Amino acid sequence: MILTACEEEVSPKNEKKEPENERVADSGDKLKIGFSMDTLEEERWPRDRDFFKEAVESLGADVMIREARGDDSLQIVHAETLISAGVDVLVIVPHNAEAVATIVNKAHNAGIKVISYDRLVKNSSVDLYISFDNELVGELQAKAITKLVPKGKYVYIGGANTDNNAHLLKQGVFNVLQPLIDKGDIQIVYDQWSENWTPENAYANMQAALKTNNNEIDAVIAGNDGTASGVIKALEAQGLANKIPVAGQDAELAAAQRIVQGTQAVTIYKPIKTLAYEAAKAAIKMAEGETVKTNRKMNNGKLEIPSLLLTPIAVDKNNIDDTIIADGFHQHDQVYEKP
Ligand code: BGC
Repeated sequence: MILTACEEEVSPKNEKKEPENERVADSGDKLKIGFSMDTLEEERWPRDRDFFKEAVESLGADVMIREARGDDSLQIVHAETLISAGVDVLVIVPHNAEAVATIVNKAHNAGIKVISYDRLVKNSSVDLYISFDNELVGELQAKAITKLVPKGKYVYIGGANTDNNAHLLKQGVFNVLQPLIDKGDIQIVYDQWSENWTPENAYANMQAALKTNNNEIDAVIAGNDGTASGVIKALEAQGLANKIPVAGQDAELAAAQRIVQGTQAVTIYKPIKTLAYEAAKAAIKMAEGETVKTNRKMNNGKLEIPSLLLTPIAVDKNNIDDTIIADGFHQHDQVYEKP
């Protein structure tokens, strides 16, 4: 994990109202951490869940996990359940960046601090944000693709409009593309969000992009590997897979396989274990009233949120063995399996 030099600290603010002896009477002398997840849909999220559980337990605390299956009201109910169950800290992966702000207030009213995990809760006074640098993810995608296609017609197939990460990713992509657009080297011929990040919505978007442009497209940047899979399916239907470079992120196994097969040019690898362990350590520290080291501030529309942003890694066919395979994120045989 790489931290930047300017580390800052989050100091304990919201003292838990519940008396210490009540908590101890509740759950032995173990701290209890609540983890409210949006989804387990993409390949990464079960890893996040398992690593987070492993990390919290290895630090001697208990964990309660809920998965909202993309349902905002269910996620709010889950958070209320976790709060009533007396968790010491609530860690949340919001489905909708805005809709769950109410959870932060509820937790604070109960004296419980809240950590935003991977995705930022907007317009709230969430206590800490831990994620990868999502703007950098977008920049790495665009740098990799512009290296392959310095000039031409670009399609941007974004993630879910309701996820703050989708906006950060797009910001990063356009940090790199805008100067080339201004120069006239690159034209954006299609740009659309994919609701709920589904491959099906990305597929429909890509079909529309191909249709409106008579298949004259030179490169595609997609929000993640799931949406990239939809894009590549639409390209395949037109006999264009292998011919048009596509970027995704998450280093999903299917994306790693597509990279070695040549239908996807690049993915962005985010070592999930590091994220989960950092979040677990931070949650325990907060529960114990200790300070947590951070390296950034991220504006969530209301406040500058103390943040710990980890560094993502671009992966293509040249460094796949030295990154995701060397790390054991995927096995060599699985990645190089013939379709
Ligand atoms: C995460 C991605 C993930 C996407 C869809 C984003 O917020 O950062 O890793 O692919 O959500 O779940």
